[in-house]
Amino acid sequence: MGPIAALERVVHCLDRAHEGGFKAKAFVRALEVVRATPPAELERRAADGTLTDLDGIGDSTARLISEAISGQVPAYLTKLEATTTVPLTEAGATYREALRGDCHLHSRWSDGGATIEAMARTAIELGHDYMVLTDHSPRLTVAHGLSKERLDQQLADIVVLNEQLAPFRILTGIEVDILEDGTLDHDDAVLAELDVVVASVHSKLKMERAEMTERMVRAVASPHVDILGHCTGRLIGKRDQSRFDPDYVFAACAAFHTAVEINCRPERLDPPRELLRMAIGHGCWFSIDSDAHATGQLEWQPHGCDRAAECDVPLERVINAMGADELLGWASAA
Ligand SMILES: [Zn+2]
Ligand SMILES: [Zn+2]
Repeated sequence: MGPIAALERVVHCLDRAHEGGFKAKAFVRALEVVRATPPAELERRAADGTLTDLDGIGDSTARLISEAISGQVPAYLTKLEATTTVPLTEAGATYREALRGDCHLHSRWSDGGATIEAMARTAIELGHDYMVLTDHSPRLTVAHGLSKERLDQQLADIVVLNEQLAPFRILTGIEVDILEDGTLDHDDAVLAELDVVVASVHSKLKMERAEMTERMVRAVASPHVDILGHCTGRLIGKRDQSRFDPDYVFAACAAFHTAVEINCRPERLDPPRELLRMAIGHGCWFSIDSDAHATGQLEWQPHGCDRAAECDVPLERVINAMGADELLGWASAA
């Protein structure tokens, strides 16, 4: 393992442990520096102890780089591997073992931190057969949402990657914004091209209850929408759930063949338990998605699996427990 691989793995482990603080930023910075420095220079500096003269390399990152160059697994990485694994209950493990893919994740094309290829290779390591790439749509400018032109470029890249990564499959998709009136942030023709469409509310989360209900139902009823993303929009401890009539929205999800996402991000865990139970009562489909913005976050599915087990989500209603072809069939039947 060279210094780049070691640092990448450190960043991965810190991400899966949801550590976004100073330490994680220092390692991301060190990784950039190491990528930009010729290997021969790194070796020379490791030998004469001058790695810390490089801007962005401190004592602990220098030690890690030196250990990696000398052919050892860095001690700090060994510690992280052991201490950052994502916990999973026994009941949740039944769900996790059944999952064949992940239907909501981001790459550097929008606001993710990793390339499509890095996300795919991690998904392969996690045992997945496929992933649906769902970068943001144009209206979400803070997240560099994809215009039709950029989406077309991304689709061309995916064709090439799929040839390299087979039999693993990257399915095409988007996390399309649900606009204020319930219309979607791409034309029907654009959405129709994609394998799986996640639709989410990201703006005006505090709108009045009846208005929000109509907004969500209109999106859920679109024949192109396959999954309703993080339905309440809550951020635990930071932002309340938006208000809507869950009976109406979940009945629409069931009627229009739109899965309710079980969002696995630790700060979201959306829907909350009582709403998840209501959705089960309505006979909804579900998708247990990481909503990962970095490779380490692809390991977050256990959070949603535990939640699914706790609320007794019927496993046969979980769409990403299907194989890729079955999922595509399910999505096009919508
Ligand atoms: Zn989202
Ligand atoms: Zn997302």
